[in-house]
Amino acid sequence: MLSSKEIRKRFIKFFEDKGHKFVPSSPVVPADDPSLLFTNAGMNQFKDIFLGVKKKDCHSAVNSQKCIRVSGKHNDLEEVGVDTYHHTFFEMLGNWSFDSYFKEESIKWAWELLTEVYGIDESKLYATVFSGDESDGSEYDKEAAELWPKVTGIPAERVLSFGKKDNFWEMGETGPCGPSSEIHIDLGDEMCDMKHVPGHECGVNAGCARFIELWNLVFIQFNRQSDGTLTPLKAKYIDTGLGLERLTAVLQRKPSNYDTDLFTPLIKEISGMANTEYTHSLTEKTDIAMRVVADHVRALSFAITDGAVPSNDGRGYVLRRILRRASRFGRVLELKEPFIYKLVPTLIELMGEAFPEIKQRQDFVETVIESEEESFNRTLDRGLEIFEAAAGKSEKYISGEDTFKLYDTYGFPLDLTELLAREKNLGIDREGFDKLMEEQRQRARAAKKESGLIGKLEGEELPKTDDREKYLTENCKAKILGFA
Ligand code: ATP
Ligand code: MG
Ligand code: MG
Ligand code: MG
Repeated sequence: MLSSKEIRKRFIKFFEDKGHKFVPSSPVVPADDPSLLFTNAGMNQFKDIFLGVKKKDCHSAVNSQKCIRVSGKHNDLEEVGVDTYHHTFFEMLGNWSFDSYFKEESIKWAWELLTEVYGIDESKLYATVFSGDESDGSEYDKEAAELWPKVTGIPAERVLSFGKKDNFWEMGETGPCGPSSEIHIDLGDEMCDMKHVPGHECGVNAGCARFIELWNLVFIQFNRQSDGTLTPLKAKYIDTGLGLERLTAVLQRKPSNYDTDLFTPLIKEISGMANTEYTHSLTEKTDIAMRVVADHVRALSFAITDGAVPSNDGRGYVLRRILRRASRFGRVLELKEPFIYKLVPTLIELMGEAFPEIKQRQDFVETVIESEEESFNRTLDRGLEIFEAAAGKSEKYISGEDTFKLYDTYGFPLDLTELLAREKNLGIDREGFDKLMEEQRQRARAAKKESGLIGKLEGEELPKTDDREKYLTENCKAKILGFA
């Protein structure tokens, strides 16, 4: 059985052998892109090349990019743990052509790698192409549709076309864009997780876990003008992304990403701490909780390593939300003392070779996570009681006042209360909450001078020391904890 390390290595070697330059993953906290909270795709670090504002220093590139999808256009947080193939943090293997090849090679090589190097049964694979869209005059990608059977031998009936949502990629309102082709795999009828949904039909892009998207090949060939029309780009680019965790599950013949060697040591550790068996069930609450915790510790560790710190706004608040979510799922496992930080060494063992930076910052990462856990633990149990009481008041929703009280006094991020409510088939009174939030903001604005320290750590130069005791005493523990 191929290990995930070997799978990652083979991807990189395959493209290096075809002349690609290995470019290390950029940090998950983008250095100079204020439009993005977290790196969410391999192409992020090459964006300026596609925009024509930065010169390329190679003709084609390959890497495995650390990605986080918890905000903005790509937010997979709700899927995590409930399904088995969306993570908050994942690795996107990718290859890029800046001027050396286009559709034909990219299709041919993707197929060659999957079927010959990795040995995936080609009869299980489907390809997709862009169907065109009348509303903006974009055309059916006939070129790709014809190339697939020609260069890979895939039967034409397994080349399917889809619209903009799935098969057209754009960076923004204007700028470089183009159709894409994706490779999906049929994992077999027993993997469908939507059998209970009336009228559900399994298929590519139909939303069930039987057909999983593996690889997205984007053909950047147009420029979207401000009037919405498309003009051909002079320089054409290839931008691809293949999820390492999904590929590993396929190659290790596992029904879930969490059963691969990227996750099993973490799951084992959590299950041991909780003294609860992991039963591989999609619906068992404790299994969901273990998956969520295993997922979230990865996102937290990589984000903190790369310079983000939990705080009360922006990127820092996204981290705080992830951590509090993980803490709460710890309660489902009856883990009451800080425990997430204890998983960091196992994670480092798994990932430290591919990403040595997490090893270098181990002490700091553990310290930040532990402090945050401690801080939230002080209010979590009481908050959960308040929530239970609030849930008992109505059959429909948690009131705005209760949602706000949980947020304001007990540190429950809105999405955490939403999640708890959803588990009981309840909604939340968002309007009522927003109104109270706005009032709070007005008050805070008036008292702005006093609230200066909270969240200030984010964006500051991080301490170079890895000595946790020293860090805790010298670097304002209170600042991290948010109650300075
Ligand atoms: P999906 O439709 O499954 O949500 P996507 O179309 O949003 O995937 P892309 O933006 O095309 O994904 O990203 C390229 C590849 O990265 C995907 O084909 C998939 O293998 C992987 N990927 C995307 N999102 C995630 C995620 N949240 N967790 C793990 N892998 C992911
Ligand atoms: Mg997606
Ligand atoms: Mg998709
Ligand atoms: Mg896709």
